[in-house]
Amino acid sequence: LWNQCIQKLEHEIPPQDFNTWIRPLQAVENGGELHLLAPNQFVLDWVRDHFIDHIEQALPRNGNGAPRLILEVGTRQEAEVPPDRPDFGAARARRKKPATSNLNPAFTFDTFVEGKSNQFAKAAAMQVAENVGQAYNPLFIYGGVGLGKTHLMHAIGNLIVARNAKANVVYLHSERFVSDMVTALQHNAINAFKEYYRSVDALLVDDIQFFAGKERSQEEFFHTFNTLLENKHQVVLTCDRYPKEIEGLEERLKSRFGWGLPVAIEPPDLETRVAILMKKAQQWGVELPEEVAFFIGKRIRSNVRELEGALRRVTARAQFTGEPITLAFAKEALRDLIAVQDKLINVENIQKTVAEYYKIRVSDLLSNKRTRSITRPRQIAMALAKELTNHSLPEIGEYFGGRDHTTVLHACRKVEELKEADSKIAEDYATLLHLLTN
Ligand code: ADP
Ligand code: MG
Repeated sequence: LWNQCIQKLEHEIPPQDFNTWIRPLQAVENGGELHLLAPNQFVLDWVRDHFIDHIEQALPRNGNGAPRLILEVGTRQEAEVPPDRPDFGAARARRKKPATSNLNPAFTFDTFVEGKSNQFAKAAAMQVAENVGQAYNPLFIYGGVGLGKTHLMHAIGNLIVARNAKANVVYLHSERFVSDMVTALQHNAINAFKEYYRSVDALLVDDIQFFAGKERSQEEFFHTFNTLLENKHQVVLTCDRYPKEIEGLEERLKSRFGWGLPVAIEPPDLETRVAILMKKAQQWGVELPEEVAFFIGKRIRSNVRELEGALRRVTARAQFTGEPITLAFAKEALRDLIAVQDKLINVENIQKTVAEYYKIRVSDLLSNKRTRSITRPRQIAMALAKELTNHSLPEIGEYFGGRDHTTVLHACRKVEELKEADSKIAEDYATLLHLLTN
């Protein structure tokens, strides 16, 4: 039944989506019911939100009509155990491999775009995946929302499992650790709970800031963590901030988290944002001209999740209207997003902010003065205009007292060089960027 359905769906759903969301599903037929097992909650939610209608329509009907569709988390061998919840009973505790590792197959190192902002984190993550328990332990990845922490964490898990199918990798969100612990306590199964988490080869716990203020969970986690480390099993943690900065977390935990390697993920720069957009488009099987990628990358600066959201919006609209994705099309699709920003970021505003920052006048920026104290800010303002607005080089030249586009180009290159060579300039630039975009 499911095979027939799959064959139909393969023609109806874009290949990337199909491979990511539909292919990992396993089917168990049971009388009038078709159970679809998703590898984790994430896939399940996605399938339910995006593809359930497709699936229902593609199901072959027999005399009794279509089978009843039931979505759950699990894998076929173990379909009899309650989905996704490791049961902490004796039978489960004895079994070597947990019911599900919860890894999202779409989050791999291959689909992770590297840039200055995440290079170090990615390299460390790969080290850990290739030398489980031997490289950095724990690996502690921290950074703001939507910057790829969860993605990297799954990539580690996926690579470990790809290299050793028997490896016992468990990914979970820290809230899940807390709620599982509560369940275990309620069922007098806390020993099985401990045994379960302490027996894994690699434990990946996401967003540990949620442990803040939860003392009993911290206590339990602390012991689990120590046992794993003592046995040279890998622990990977993510957090939205540096360990020491988490309020409501016991000192001993903070200091332990710092034992291994804390690595930061920063917001991606423009080039990386563009590369991410191109990669996503390619994955989704969408034709994305580079100028459109630059346009979106310039506009959406906050984080990768929003970048992806903007691209999704443009592609959804293109699929809907059947039009190709051009610059004009993208502008239209993202009009409301952009309208808000344009009010805030324009060349005049950049000039004003830069002039204030360097305590000079805007008229100086537009003048022909050639003293260093004026030319540097002027070059920086031009580079910012190039980075933050969608104006062409000649247009930017116009804004700066009618300069030639080659002057603007030179300024942009010069600023790039200076940022590398002079940390004061790099800092000024970063501060100005922050002032203008926040
Ligand atoms: P975080 O856990 O830091 O909040 P996520 O890992 O959930 O962020 O990332 C949000 C989205 O952005 C995901 O869809 C992820 O695939 C994507 N993403 C983040 N960084 C990258 C990157 N460097 N390359 C490709 N995709 C990325
Ligand atoms: Mg996350």
